[in-house]
Amino acid sequence: MTAEVLVVGSANADLVVAADRRPGGGETVLGGDTRVLPGGKGANTAVAAARLGADVALVGAVGDDPHGRLLLDSLRSAGVRTELVRTVDRPTGAAYITVTPDGENSILVSPGANAALRPADIDPAGAKVVAVSMEVPLPTVEHAVTAAAAAGARVVLNLSPVTELAVTTLTTPTTLAGVDLLLVNEHEAALLLGAEDPANIDPAGLLDRGPRSAVVTLGARGALLVTEDGPLEVPAPRVEAVDTTGAGDAFAGALATALATALDTGTEQDHVVELRRAIEWAARVAALSVTRSGAQPSYPTADEVARWSP
Ligand code: ADP
Repeated sequence: MTAEVLVVGSANADLVVAADRRPGGGETVLGGDTRVLPGGKGANTAVAAARLGADVALVGAVGDDPHGRLLLDSLRSAGVRTELVRTVDRPTGAAYITVTPDGENSILVSPGANAALRPADIDPAGAKVVAVSMEVPLPTVEHAVTAAAAAGARVVLNLSPVTELAVTTLTTPTTLAGVDLLLVNEHEAALLLGAEDPANIDPAGLLDRGPRSAVVTLGARGALLVTEDGPLEVPAPRVEAVDTTGAGDAFAGALATALATALDTGTEQDHVVELRRAIEWAARVAALSVTRSGAQPSYPTADEVARWSP
């Protein structure tokens, strides 16, 4: 049986090493011990939604190796259904992350098993919301969006991490016309709009690309909801940030959960009000997650979010 929220996306082992500086070409730098953490945008989004109480399944792929088992364990212990996570004959995807004292991360992603996720793996029938992110092959992303829209699901596309190729391949009005909510951060929005400076974008232009509405996340400043009524700022709760890793994925998982549970009465006015409420809640979820360390381990339950006063 299909879950209410179907997440299509990557599952990666995050291999994190702290170092005084990142190595340049031809150079060797000694770092700290390797920490191996469950990650990947798809797995993170699914875990965030499940912890918030959604009935969620991940459509993904892992290898038959210890990293794959780590990811499956983490998904299952959060309550994510994993029957649609295929085990394939490739190594589990890995993100090699160097963390330096300036707080900057540099990340090399090896897609591995994620590259084996095919359009045929996706059957959105019965899902209320389909949440799609990148780090899986573009034809798979494209098919997930169009098949989900055709099946009557609400589609949230988190265009992250975005590449030039993804922009030219995916942002045809036909693909993005199937998207209810396009989710991007400032840099992704700038790339999509062909703007030089992320601080200087016209967010209304995002709707010209085809989606019904869009959200631009602005880090500690919150998010911008873009609908046919124009842009609307939703501030983030002010918090002492401990670790912002996976904040965008927490936001995406919360949005998908809110949209799956919201009652859509169908009028345009209600559509905008419903989206604003969903984004306010997602901003609370994401802010609470940045007060804790890690990505998946930092994601709160709905009760924790309700009881939390920043
Ligand atoms: P990404 O991680 O994808 O680059 P952002 O940095 O924009 O995305 O963060 C996503 C969301 O997480 C923001 O819209 C905001 O709601 C929340 N968030 C991120 N950083 C903070 C912070 N320092 N304080 C409060 N909320 C934050």
